[in-house]
Amino acid sequence: MSHTINFQQAGEQTKAVHAGERPDPATNASAPNIVMSTTYVVDAGTTFSVEGLEEDDRWIYTRWGNPTVRQLEEKLSVLEEAETAVAFASGMAAISALLLHCLKAGDHAVISDVAYAALSEATNEMIPALNIGITKVDTSDLEAVRAALRPNTRLVYVETPCNPLLRLTDIEAVAKLAHGAGALLAVDSTFATPAATKPLSLGADFVVHSLTKYLGGHGDALGGVILGGKADLTPLRKKTAIRLGGTLSPFNAWLILRGIATFPLRMRVHQENALAVAAYLERHPGVKQVAYPGLPSHPQYELARRQMHNFSGILTFQTEDGPAMARRLAEKLRIIHYAVSLGHHRSLVFYLNSRELLQSSFRFSTPEQLASWNAFAGDGVFRLSVGLEDARDLIADLEQAIG
Ligand SMILES: *Cc1c(COP(=O)(O)O)cnc(C)c1O
Repeated sequence: MSHTINFQQAGEQTKAVHAGERPDPATNASAPNIVMSTTYVVDAGTTFSVEGLEEDDRWIYTRWGNPTVRQLEEKLSVLEEAETAVAFASGMAAISALLLHCLKAGDHAVISDVAYAALSEATNEMIPALNIGITKVDTSDLEAVRAALRPNTRLVYVETPCNPLLRLTDIEAVAKLAHGAGALLAVDSTFATPAATKPLSLGADFVVHSLTKYLGGHGDALGGVILGGKADLTPLRKKTAIRLGGTLSPFNAWLILRGIATFPLRMRVHQENALAVAAYLERHPGVKQVAYPGLPSHPQYELARRQMHNFSGILTFQTEDGPAMARRLAEKLRIIHYAVSLGHHRSLVFYLNSRELLQSSFRFSTPEQLASWNAFAGDGVFRLSVGLEDARDLIADLEQAIG
């Protein structure tokens, strides 16, 4: 049996099951082994500095490269149609390595004004303290992106759909603006996933995922990845991956590899369930507003249909007196867990209070930015990550809890 599959012609499910994997040469084991060894027996002439490291299959030290982690990187590259990938211990480890790879003192970056809270917080003070200029704009507003670009802008960083608003950014249009200004474009595609959107094919230079979410899919392993071209990612691996050391554990890589085998199947059910729950919530008299890219009522439904081939499983909703409803849900829900995070097989819900978030994480400089926040989130939103349970059970759980 030969194990070379032409992944360019294979379907998504075949890619998810087989890419990056091959029977173990020593034992013929069909499932991948976990290689937990941190070091490898090498020749006397082996390099002791990552400067001399070549991208090949000689293993030296697990922070530099590990066979199980490499299998995951290969699988992700095939799914995202990327030349290569570098895996990290978490989504934030990937994001911070990417920022420090692309930006140095004197450079400038344009960043989504609403994005994953830890990124927003890191770029409020920590990154500017390195003498890197940061401008935060609503990246769904192309004029705002254009106006923010400067001669020293090296990076435009967007998150679409963004966490927690579910506001979208037109990747193709922003890629043109960024490239016209001599900057690179990075897209955090954690919410969309490769089942919905392939940002590299739309002109992005880097894609980032928190593997902790849909790709791992089971809420039991943190991980992150950057995907893109070798010209960028080979030096990135040497510098900000190996030297800063946010290395993914081989055990987590193995769990995530296993999770990805069912990734396309899971995304179909996440979407189907989210559509059913979103439609139920939209009809509920106690619910003021629902945001889900798959609903015609989403303000950017046209862009969602063009850019997302799967609407994914996250929706937000608003009720009167969010804090009181949050206490009710935390107490009464039986199936849905009141917890942060998203993209797991278990449904999760969490209340995000606008007043608190606008103080701690998101700092707006224009009235338009605040108006856009208010249009999507009002006083606060419940972020519901719709899992893989039966939709009717989830709806019944919400019904008995919301009342
Ligand atoms: C969770 C998340 C991250 C951070 O990932 P971790 O694995 O928790 O570090 C980054 N971006 C988005 C959009 C996320 O949802």
